[in-house]
Amino acid sequence: MKKRGGSNLRLKLSPDSEISFAKFLTDSGTFKDGDLLVGRNGLRIVPQDGQEEPPLVKPSDNQLTLADVDTIKVIGKGNGGIVQLVRHKWTGQFFALKVIQMNIQDSVRKQIAQELKINQSSQCPYVVVCYHSFYDNGAISIVLEYMDGGSLADFLKKVKSIPETYLSAISKQVLKGLIYLHHDKHIIHRDLKPSNILINHGGEVKITDFGVSAILTSTIGQRDTFVGTYNYMSPERISGETYDYKSDIWSLGLLLLECATGCFPYSPPELGDGWINFYELLEAIVEQPQPSASSEQFSPEFCSFISACATKDPNDRKSAQELLKHPFVSMYEDLDVDLASYFTSAGSPLATF
Ligand code: ATP
Ligand code: MG
Repeated sequence: MKKRGGSNLRLKLSPDSEISFAKFLTDSGTFKDGDLLVGRNGLRIVPQDGQEEPPLVKPSDNQLTLADVDTIKVIGKGNGGIVQLVRHKWTGQFFALKVIQMNIQDSVRKQIAQELKINQSSQCPYVVVCYHSFYDNGAISIVLEYMDGGSLADFLKKVKSIPETYLSAISKQVLKGLIYLHHDKHIIHRDLKPSNILINHGGEVKITDFGVSAILTSTIGQRDTFVGTYNYMSPERISGETYDYKSDIWSLGLLLLECATGCFPYSPPELGDGWINFYELLEAIVEQPQPSASSEQFSPEFCSFISACATKDPNDRKSAQELLKHPFVSMYEDLDVDLASYFTSAGSPLATF
């Protein structure tokens, strides 16, 4: 059996079951009971003959399948599919199961499985853990760490806008997640937006869906429908120029500004009519001056932070590492900002508590 690193699964077990599970704890930090293995990478059925673990590709390879989990409820819907709260039948562990309908050829499926493995190797407190993924019956299923506060988009609907003190603490965590993706993993997120920043009752803020948009884009021809969000896309990407990690920083600036004001920074040309078509919005992002925070409403530090993120020329835009040192990120540190209480008490109960 290939050994894995220490387990970071928080199993919700009764005292009795904890005892019974404890005796199956292996030295690699995983639980093993017969052919059930519970470890850092989630839950799976392993072959009894002690051979190498099967590749993380499809359920027929003896791993966690939909039959192993109970669906509790649908917690979200995106353009690509639905997200459900599920509970593992034997351990009680909660997961978020993202199902993306995608009828694709075998060769493409293999490529996607390969790319999703990048997500599974992520180990960072500021990035949502992807435990497992498989393709079955025309759909890609991704088993994710469950974040019980839902997304910043959900939260914004309740609170309308987020005060700077909290935004500073949120920015710090998102920047650390971005440093991990950009610097350590060499991944450009490509789809950073409020619905891809998830929160929980512990005050944790984590980035999700990195790599997913790249997969969807690369298989765009294979899918019947793909309607992504282009609102947060950087000017250089829209213009078809080469783009890099700095593209995510642009998106971060826009999403933070939206959180601060409660409105998406680019307003439609005619009130009430919305954008006539999405090309107009794209044109505005490329042609109009960069969006900014009002100095009457916000601190000079916040205005400067947004300006550093939403700089149109990517060469002049700051990196995640540089931004982590920006005064805005540390200016409220003395206040001991309590994101956990804020997330749990602001507005009505959180999206998925
Ligand atoms: P798009 O499809 O355009 O990317 P999206 O990000 O809103 O939009 P999904 O990624 O499918 O679409 O997520 C939909 C919603 O599901 C999120 O807004 C959030 O409320 C919820 N959600 C997603 N992942 C999780 C998770 N790991 N834990 C808890 N809730 C989640
Ligand atoms: Mg998402």
